[in-house]
Amino acid sequence: MNEQGLSEKEIFSYLENVKSEDTDYYRVLSSMCTHPHKIAVEAHRLFIEANLGDLGLFAGAHSLEKEVIMMLGELLHAPSVKIPVEKACESSVCGYLTTGGTESNIQAVRGMKNVITAGKKELGKIPNIVIPESAHFSFDKVADMMGIEVRRALLDSEFKVDPASVESLMDANTIGLVGIAGNTEFGQIDPVEELAKLARQHEIFLHIDAAFGGFVIPFLENPYPFDFKVQGVTSIAIDPHKMGLSTIPSGALLFRSPSFLDSLKVSTPYLTTKEQFTLTGTRSGASAAATYAVMKHLGREGYVKNVQYCMQLTAKLVEEARKLGFEPLLEPVMNVVALRVPSPDLVRDQLLRKFGWNVSITRTPRSLRLVLMPHNTARDVEEFLQDLKKVTAE
Ligand code: PLP
Repeated sequence: MNEQGLSEKEIFSYLENVKSEDTDYYRVLSSMCTHPHKIAVEAHRLFIEANLGDLGLFAGAHSLEKEVIMMLGELLHAPSVKIPVEKACESSVCGYLTTGGTESNIQAVRGMKNVITAGKKELGKIPNIVIPESAHFSFDKVADMMGIEVRRALLDSEFKVDPASVESLMDANTIGLVGIAGNTEFGQIDPVEELAKLARQHEIFLHIDAAFGGFVIPFLENPYPFDFKVQGVTSIAIDPHKMGLSTIPSGALLFRSPSFLDSLKVSTPYLTTKEQFTLTGTRSGASAAATYAVMKHLGREGYVKNVQYCMQLTAKLVEEARKLGFEPLLEPVMNVVALRVPSPDLVRDQLLRKFGWNVSITRTPRSLRLVLMPHNTARDVEEFLQDLKKVTAE
């Protein structure tokens, strides 16, 4: 640290210089985040100091969090629960705002483990969960942190998890299943109804990771069943900081039943509230305000338009890529395209080095992974395909 402080001018001149190294999402086709809506940015600024880790001091920000959870509950068909105010969820939908999909996934699995232990059911020596091969790497962190074995089930030819493979991996120590509604690599949705059937039959939990798809699927022309409407789904992760157009860090975790949040509580002797069920202590009230503002401002109609825009870009990319001879691995279900190209790793490097495009790669099989977000335009798609043609012709 320097001995004497620098002037504001010096600091900002340095910061602007450093910021110029960021992409600002220009020619970015690899990210599931985007520019937050300007109303979210304003709301975020207004609540910049609010700490949801100490709810008694920030009753206003906390009321916004509860409203967001109610809106998300309505979006995801969460059942209303009637519970006393002092219980874990103070509103009729159970959940809280997290920092994103990773925290939501960790807490969902922690909840599974704790609910079972609280019910005095014996956990097997090493409890396990069964997740799709395509699950996000946050589940590797779950395995590492919680002493839970994470078993990965095979995908079918459409990159959905194969329920037969899931069942073959289940045993007496299986405490829960995970389905992905909008997987990171392919944008595919797992067969949630079939997973739910397995979960019900075996009386275990089913967590749905809709970190990306939660703000896409409900607004598609033909939405797929993936939420609490499906009996057997016990928790859902959904991220407002991805397709919800809120600020980072805005994630959310919703539970069907209050027992989950109850099971996550620890006592907090020196705070204004007695207990805390969140993973992080200090939490951003600013992102609660941002999410509240953008959800209220856009409404269902605004999100439908957002999803339509991204899906039109997706359709354009696939149609024009086909004309150049590049086929997608699957017909896109949401705004993610996995494109078969020769030597994808080399193509990716060249696209970045020569033309400044940020794209990523699917693991198995290897293909170009392209996410069409609100920051992309029809012109981007045209220019990208021209550049792709050049690098693949070399
Ligand atoms: N789950 C899915 C399906 C994702 O696509 C991602 C990130 O892209 C995550 C979880 C992790 O979210 P975060 O990076 O916000 O923790």
